[in-house]
Amino acid sequence: MANEVKNKVILHWNCRGLVEFPEVIRLHGSHIQEIYLKWNKLTTLPPWITELFNVTNLYMYGNRIEQLPVELGGMSQLTVLDLSANRLDLISACIGNLSNLKSLFLNDNFIERLPIELSQLNNLEILSVSGNQIVALPEWTGSLPRLRELYVDNNQLRELPNRLTIAPELTMISVCSNRLKYLPLNGFLSAPCIRFDANEYLNYVSYPLLFQLLSQLRTTVVRDREYLAFGCFKTHYDTNVLNTNIKLYIKMKRLHEINADVIIELPRQMLKIHEVHENVTCSLWELALRKVYTERYKHMLDVSVSPANVTILYKPLKNTKLDFTLSTSYTLYNLLTNGPTGICVNSQCQQPIFTEAWIIIGINRSAESIITIVLCCSRSCATAFAAHSSMTINLHWHSIN
Ligand SMILES: [Zn+2]
Repeated sequence: MANEVKNKVILHWNCRGLVEFPEVIRLHGSHIQEIYLKWNKLTTLPPWITELFNVTNLYMYGNRIEQLPVELGGMSQLTVLDLSANRLDLISACIGNLSNLKSLFLNDNFIERLPIELSQLNNLEILSVSGNQIVALPEWTGSLPRLRELYVDNNQLRELPNRLTIAPELTMISVCSNRLKYLPLNGFLSAPCIRFDANEYLNYVSYPLLFQLLSQLRTTVVRDREYLAFGCFKTHYDTNVLNTNIKLYIKMKRLHEINADVIIELPRQMLKIHEVHENVTCSLWELALRKVYTERYKHMLDVSVSPANVTILYKPLKNTKLDFTLSTSYTLYNLLTNGPTGICVNSQCQQPIFTEAWIIIGINRSAESIITIVLCCSRSCATAFAAHSSMTINLHWHSIN
């Protein structure tokens, strides 16, 4: 083994039944650059691993690792770390010190949350945490400056961070087989490919995002894919979950493609929806958020695409119990850094929308009769949008909360 270590730069010791990280690497392997120890029986990494100054790639897939030594954080030269298919239930904070890390694979463990320390990984390009128990992705995942690919399939996600929509470099988001009830209402600035098959509670998509997804579908190389997502956009709704999100009840009786009425749930940030016939304006709080954001955080989205295939009818609210007071969990700072819930679809306007909106609901017939919601910043933008869209299908909507 010593000779093998001395003569190699890349060490392939997969499937050798090893129960410990071989000490011979410490004695003779200071020059080693890549270590493959996949499918062994290791339960931990040794503290002296930090002495392997030249190792940039460490592949520990398929072992029995339950805990990581803090010394791992000293391997700041690491660019690839694969700890998939182990027995980790916590991600050690020390991984946040791996400042050169580009790819982090933690698939198929028992992880429930991503620690804040990972937000320091300024060079991270690929984050893959599929097959865990993650309920929520932190908002900071959208602020990793180099993040290109995010894989969170087979987890317990209920929503995606709003900040992902303003991530600069994202090209791929894969969140299949979760419990998502909605995708972000904003379009994504970097127009990434989004895979979200098998989210059975996801039953609508926003208007800007739909156009992004449809154009993605048109330009995709694989031609056998005719649907936006498999196993989504069903009409049923998980009524067992108690939460405070605003829900809209949509009567579908005139639509033959969809038989049952549909309940959709709006993102948590949305605290109030206005009715188009009501002569009201937004709260000062919402107006202040918009003002501060457009002056300090502004980003633009292309929402000038033709609305021709969205059909709309706006109906009065039946239930007026909609006067939500602002949730204390959303501070001004969080709202501003996480970005707006949506951008007004009026292309002359494009105001950011944070907690209050005028919402129009339609059906997009070009893709699986998907329910689409349109966010407007004001009554006048909503009526202008509705006037410019064809109105052939009656959709009634009101809140059921
Ligand atoms: Zn507007």
